[in-house]
Amino acid sequence: MRRISAIIILLLAAVAVVLAANFYPNLSDQRKEQTMNEENEATKAGVNDLTITVVYDNNPYKQGLQTAWGFSCVITGAEKTILFDTGGDGSVLLGNMEKSAIEPNGIDIVVLSHIHGDHTGGLDYFLEKNPDVTIYVPKSFPKKFKDNVLSFRSKIVEVEQPLKICENVYSSGELGKWIKEQSLIIQTNKGLIVLTGCAHPGIVKIVNEAKDLLKGDILLVMGGFHLEWATTGKIEKIISAFKQMGVRYVGPSHCSGHKARTLFEKRFGTNYINVGAGKVITAADLQ
Ligand SMILES: [Zn+2]
Ligand SMILES: [Zn+2]
Repeated sequence: MRRISAIIILLLAAVAVVLAANFYPNLSDQRKEQTMNEENEATKAGVNDLTITVVYDNNPYKQGLQTAWGFSCVITGAEKTILFDTGGDGSVLLGNMEKSAIEPNGIDIVVLSHIHGDHTGGLDYFLEKNPDVTIYVPKSFPKKFKDNVLSFRSKIVEVEQPLKICENVYSSGELGKWIKEQSLIIQTNKGLIVLTGCAHPGIVKIVNEAKDLLKGDILLVMGGFHLEWATTGKIEKIISAFKQMGVRYVGPSHCSGHKARTLFEKRFGTNYINVGAGKVITAADLQ
């Protein structure tokens, strides 16, 4: 009899532990958020000497640089020098980097937004020049892709949750249901810069996530907005959402489409940035 009561007590204790664990499922999330906020406070000043150079885009900007479908840019001035996406063709990427006076060896970190070839196709060519980098990829990337990166002896970081990449630079974490994508968020002394590859999870959702994560004003949103086939009505709604979120500057490029670029320019006026291959944006350009 005594043994049976002991077993019942043990069972009840086990149930209580399981219930308690379910009752506080977000404890680690809360801690993560707290850490992010503390870090945010500590680095509130942000980067003040940032430069973004677009080295791959289907939209032209600077003469002499090649255009091809895809996106890639280089971020300098933060703790690390970062290559965000690699475009689709490695020879175009490296050629444009050379014309922009950017040495592949100067890159410390590569961040790949999502698996599509127009963002990852240039990686092998780049790694042949400089394998000594850490590559941040969405965790959902295929094993074959990750194995290829490891064959270059490059380091790989699989991103699922939002994370700090280096001082003042964050990944939004894997967003979206079908095509998982991470965006880059840079903390500057003037506000947050959000860089998107194709914005498959939805550009408004991405900007909202960035705001939530780092609790700052949005200085600039640039990259592919994925509005190539969107209706005027949908684009207008997105522009209104941007205005409501207090986005100060926009630089829609790559898969944003001509119509969206024209409408954004109309509404943002001088705060619209014409982004294309060879465009250089510095912190001084943003007030
Ligand atoms: Zn794309
Ligand atoms: Zn894509």
